[in-house]
Amino acid sequence: MAKLSITDLKDLRGKTVFMRVDYNVPLDENGAITDDKRIKATIPSVDHLVKEGAKIVLGSHLGRPKGKKDPKQSLRPVAARLAELSGAPVNFADDCIGDKVDQLKKNLQPGQILLLENLRFYAEEEKNDAAFAEKLAQGIDVYINDAFGTAHRAHASTAAVAELVKKRGGQAAAGFLMEKELKYLGGILANPARPLVCILGGAKVSDKIKVIENLLNIADVILIGGAMAYTFRKAQGFSVGKSLCEHDKIDLAKSLLEKAKGKKFFLPEDQLQTTEFKAGAPTRNTDGPSIEDGWEGVDIGAATIETYKTEIAKAKTIVWNGPMGVFEIPDFSKGTFEVAKAVADATKRGATTIIGGGDSAKAVKQAGLAKEMSFVSTGGGASLEFLEGKPLPGVAALSDR
Ligand code: AMP
Repeated sequence: MAKLSITDLKDLRGKTVFMRVDYNVPLDENGAITDDKRIKATIPSVDHLVKEGAKIVLGSHLGRPKGKKDPKQSLRPVAARLAELSGAPVNFADDCIGDKVDQLKKNLQPGQILLLENLRFYAEEEKNDAAFAEKLAQGIDVYINDAFGTAHRAHASTAAVAELVKKRGGQAAAGFLMEKELKYLGGILANPARPLVCILGGAKVSDKIKVIENLLNIADVILIGGAMAYTFRKAQGFSVGKSLCEHDKIDLAKSLLEKAKGKKFFLPEDQLQTTEFKAGAPTRNTDGPSIEDGWEGVDIGAATIETYKTEIAKAKTIVWNGPMGVFEIPDFSKGTFEVAKAVADATKRGATTIIGGGDSAKAVKQAGLAKEMSFVSTGGGASLEFLEGKPLPGVAALSDR
């Protein structure tokens, strides 16, 4: 079901809007912001609300204060950066609920912004507590969620506040950033241009079982890399040496292989193996899928890189989640970076290319190719759960179009 978008909201002038944003930015020991990309990412929605003359209340979490007030995890530094980036006045409330905050909300003029203090200074936020949500929703006419990264959590600011606003007859919409996530990720599940090639890697099969199960029903081709490939190979009877392998998940891998029968489900035909998990250690390409005793797999092998590049070159839609190997160590990064290049080339030929959040986003950025992709998701856990086909509470709570 399509969800209401920020651009569907009419007559925002003078209305008080609560927008859930993701300002979980990294801070250094002096409290200075070391990367402001998450603040920048919300500027289109903030600008739009300023232009429309809304009274803007922004709520976010930062870090893991676990229900305790911690000045080191205050959002105060974000208020100053947001004012610079948006060019609009930003007031900061040193709490997120209470009489003082309610008064600050009332004092807002059209186009003004009030940034609330860290929502997770209250344990009730993560408990989706109804009484806490009432306080957050005090004086709020309209709800917007622009924080895709927390949409897979039913918290007060992502779920209960939206429900409350709707119950009072108000609207709950997706911000521009959230809308983009839903468009790209939703497009894969709903109506992808084919062939749809899904590239899945990373450490563990167990983290991605549901994604694999769901994508087996949707994808034309699935390419597996990373350490999770070894669990599948072990299940098929190949040796994995001392590689990272989920020995207790062999039955699970077998049942996924059974479901993948008759589908284009690729496992690496060769691997890059090393004697030691560190830069500069000896490496050798395996002859086939097996890894030798005393060696461990750290990347997909040379033949696999070529096979995967050929499949990627045929794709019209690509979704990639999880690195092909230990890309953090340059000696073991070739498979991941070659795949990144192939996906970037696919974008140039007109394919829609989507990078799931987390480590694959990091790898693509490290390869200097993030801008060459159609879309890089901002949510690690959220994009995985979306690809599992699970409804995300933060999306489900929005008004239908
Ligand atoms: P995930 O969070 O499940 O996507 O896993 C990402 C992590 O898997 C990265 O830190 C990679 O270094 C790691 N990884 C990928 N391939 C391997 C491998 N062959 N052996 C050990 N770790 C790996």
